[in-house]
Amino acid sequence: MTIPALRLSGLCVTYDGVVALTGVDLDVWPGEVIALLGSSGSGKTTLLHTVAGFIEPDSGVVAIGDRVVAGAGGWVAPEDRRVGLVFQGAALWPHLTVLDTVAYPIRRRGLPKGAARREAAGLLERLGLSPLADRRPAQLSGGEQQRVGLARALARDPALFLFDEPTAHLDTHLRSVVLEEIARRREALGAAALYATHNAAEALAIADRIAVLRAGRLVQVGTPQEVYAQPVDAETARLTGPASLLDAAALGAAALDGWAIDAPVGGVVGVRGHETVLVRPDWVRFGGDLPGRVESVRYRGPSTDHVVSVRGGRLLVSSPGPPRRGVGEVVGLTVTQTWSMPSLDGAGRLTAVRETAATDA
Ligand code: ADP
Ligand code: MG
Repeated sequence: MTIPALRLSGLCVTYDGVVALTGVDLDVWPGEVIALLGSSGSGKTTLLHTVAGFIEPDSGVVAIGDRVVAGAGGWVAPEDRRVGLVFQGAALWPHLTVLDTVAYPIRRRGLPKGAARREAAGLLERLGLSPLADRRPAQLSGGEQQRVGLARALARDPALFLFDEPTAHLDTHLRSVVLEEIARRREALGAAALYATHNAAEALAIADRIAVLRAGRLVQVGTPQEVYAQPVDAETARLTGPASLLDAAALGAAALDGWAIDAPVGGVVGVRGHETVLVRPDWVRFGGDLPGRVESVRYRGPSTDHVVSVRGGRLLVSSPGPPRRGVGEVVGLTVTQTWSMPSLDGAGRLTAVRETAATDA
């Protein structure tokens, strides 16, 4: 039987009576990356700090591997938990060069000096920090210091990495370099990781599973495809990627029928009352019977976003390459997939779930 790398059970944390986390249950399996996705203030840092041991939970249990580290009468000090917390703004030692800063945790893993310096040099190279190897923190810009702090954290060998928005202040290109390095380190070490971010694209790209946190509560845990295609509610839909939410009733059953509900998955229910349907930008394309009018056009390089007003709301239509339609143009659309926001019954079970699978012709 595999033991989770991290198990949180019924975790509750309050700050002076204000609830920051409540009833959090989560298993992270060895080698698994879970993205903790939530807006600012949802409790991501609190959760990571509770796992790291900087915060003692009010109730609930934290177990790392087979050890209870908090709760149920157990307590293990932060330095004895074998977790690596990676965050922006970690302080560097002023007297160490960049190379020695990164080699230090590698030496602590028991490698001889030469090997540690070689491994550190490789890590610096991949993060584009080689030219800075001989400098000390005072000779680095703020952004460079942050990247060195990140390199030092990645050089450790924890059983569990905890990333707290590590790329929040990095340039786009560096962000993907750092994400690659994180994936590489984790694969080499087989370590599990909890990766806190408010960035949906990052969460979708990096995670084996996404745990959506809202106001201290986990509202959905699933694979990136699940949370993207089947979010539990409108707020989760918006948090997990670009989302068009339409009033199905206003749109009209006829229009919906036109989009086809012919390949339903799961229990089918018709469109009733004021159901909200989700349409992702990749589930709709130009050409088809659904009439609309282009309201705005945003060129994004590899693709263009068109906002099209239709009966029932507005649809974001993403097409590859430069703009395909102009503002004001009357267009026809085809929607290939929709997701009806499920309603939760008293027991928290999903009801009234309907998905129309792609009917791309
Ligand atoms: P996130 O990292 O997702 O932005 P945090 O875990 O930092 O969220 O914060 C969760 C909630 O707890 C927020 O409402 C925040 O204001 C509150 N909070 C965080 N730290 C403290 C603290 N030291 N004292 C009081 N309230 C706090
Ligand atoms: Mg935070």
